[in-house]
Amino acid sequence: MIQIDGSFGEGGGQILRTSLALSLLTGKPFCIQRIRAGRSKPGLMRQHLTAVNAAAEIGNADIQGNRIGSDSFTFIPETIRAGNYHFAIGSAGSCTLVLQTVLPALIRAEGPSEIILEGGTHNPFAPPFDFLAKAFLPLLNRMGPTVTTVLHRPGFYPAGGGRFQVSVRPVKALQGMELVTRGTVIRKSATAMVSNLPLSIAQRELKIVKETLDWHPDQLQALEVKDSKGPGNLLSIEVESAALTEVFTGFGERGVSAEKVAGRTARSVREYLAQAAPVGRYLADQLLIPMAMAGRGRFRTLSPSLHTTTNIEIIKQFLDVAIRLQPIDAHQWEIEISG
Ligand code: ATP
Repeated sequence: MIQIDGSFGEGGGQILRTSLALSLLTGKPFCIQRIRAGRSKPGLMRQHLTAVNAAAEIGNADIQGNRIGSDSFTFIPETIRAGNYHFAIGSAGSCTLVLQTVLPALIRAEGPSEIILEGGTHNPFAPPFDFLAKAFLPLLNRMGPTVTTVLHRPGFYPAGGGRFQVSVRPVKALQGMELVTRGTVIRKSATAMVSNLPLSIAQRELKIVKETLDWHPDQLQALEVKDSKGPGNLLSIEVESAALTEVFTGFGERGVSAEKVAGRTARSVREYLAQAAPVGRYLADQLLIPMAMAGRGRFRTLSPSLHTTTNIEIIKQFLDVAIRLQPIDAHQWEIEISG
């Protein structure tokens, strides 16, 4: 049985999600200890437990240790069952991170799947729905499967209550992909969204985006969401290039001004546009799994995050792939995956 040290590297939830995803995919059982030992509240939290239980349901797995606060569990999968699933996190825990756990197996399953996810759809420290829909899934689809998603209702941290649906048409094998240059920038836009908060917050954020990036008012949109449960504010900035779309997000926080939230998000966009690397930091750690499943891929990104280097080591415990990291210049690294 594969032994995973949950305290390794970044020491967070991604280690257990990658292990679950690849265990389902390969049928290899694993045991994980010291879960999220690098975090102030270690062990399985509700969002992680939902991911563990979702994986167990899809893979008809034998599992021990799946309870809140647990610092270890063993996971022995059987066959993957495609079909209709409904995963409710029961808090504002991130739905996209639960999806991250089960999607790799479902895109290679025997038949199509429909998944409903309920909880947080726009959480800090997780892929927001907009990033999933516009940045990640279009690239995944280029590798073979057809995965589409519809947002029924946004759910912001801490109230949650969001919901989206994902439809999966799988493939037998994924194709490799190269993202070495970005190509021409085709479209740039910023959307500031508020839910149960004054629209002026969104307008103040867009003013900062306009000043920092020198964008035209036509590229800026303020939106008021009517059907979300609690207060929330998201600034989402999209850069669509010939090769891919990148999405940068900032979240309103109590005690942090709208100007500050917008300033840091806009600066990360300015930094991205000033450099050549097509793949941003978050997309980098998330593209590793599908590329490793394909056994072939190459992309250029910023200097690798601890999430990326940690994910690489976990992937290598399940899949027989070589993953090479190489600096290209002061701002770009190349990551190459080969079978
Ligand atoms: P923990 O609670 O243990 O910190 P976690 O389960 O919440 O961990 P991490 O291990 O920190 O999650 O992994 C977070 C994942 O979310 C990573 O894959 C990262 O790329 C992604 N992510 C975080 N912020 C963003 C963002 N703004 N846009 C896109 N993806 C993001």
